[in-house]
Amino acid sequence: MTAASSPDPMPLREKVEAFASIGVEAFTTTRAAGDYGLGDGEPPAEAVARWHALQAELAEMAPRLASARQIHGAKVLEHGEGSAVGAGGAGDHGWTRHDDADGHLTLAAGVACAVTVADCVPVFIAHPSGAVALLHAGWRGTAARIVEKGIGRLVDLGFDATDLRVHLGPAICGRCYQVGPDVFEQLTGWQTIRNRNVDLRALLAEQAKEMGVRHLSASAHCTRCDNDRFFSHRAGDAGRQVAVIVSAVGLSGTLSGTLSGTLSGSP
Ligand SMILES: [Zn+2]
Repeated sequence: MTAASSPDPMPLREKVEAFASIGVEAFTTTRAAGDYGLGDGEPPAEAVARWHALQAELAEMAPRLASARQIHGAKVLEHGEGSAVGAGGAGDHGWTRHDDADGHLTLAAGVACAVTVADCVPVFIAHPSGAVALLHAGWRGTAARIVEKGIGRLVDLGFDATDLRVHLGPAICGRCYQVGPDVFEQLTGWQTIRNRNVDLRALLAEQAKEMGVRHLSASAHCTRCDNDRFFSHRAGDAGRQVAVIVSAVGLSGTLSGTLSGTLSGSP
């Protein structure tokens, strides 16, 4: 037996395997890929360089990489076809960091959406047409029902919730995450007088199910239990992993006729 003599090297990314069948690329980086946290002040040069490298790597698939300063809210940005000359036109290239928002949604081709996390949940949403959304949900976003907003918007745009795939990426697990009475009540509606453990992914899964989602999956990893693999705020890390989803609109050619009417400017 040579067990433990050659442990598997840590992968750079945890892929969302559940989306492979619909051709949507989505992943969360690991600690091995480095820190993508940009902070609130002058962003560290190493992190900025990692973002540029990520954008360059994805450029062929996605000329645009959209991110935002995250504020634990429930605002979901919509990334449309962009400039008058269409997707991929002037001004539509490169990495953009928008103002305060915690979610991204796009029905356009060639857009990568990104959020940074370290215990909070990256919520990946994909439709077989290639339309995607990505949300950052900590306790505040969960209490503000950002999942309901993201899925609700996709439904408003003509997508059927039962067709959506939702994946909850690496995040802090219920055993590792304890909150005070006030936060517990905001999350569950239940009153308590002591600290309680909560499983954010379980709450988010419930919210998605209430919206009609049937295809749900989750990462097996907890950022704190698996702190050797992922950054964890509660474990004392300042670093952040980045979660990314790339729209596949126009690649699969499966956009339904009912949807094409809602896609402004579609050729
Ligand atoms: Zn854990």
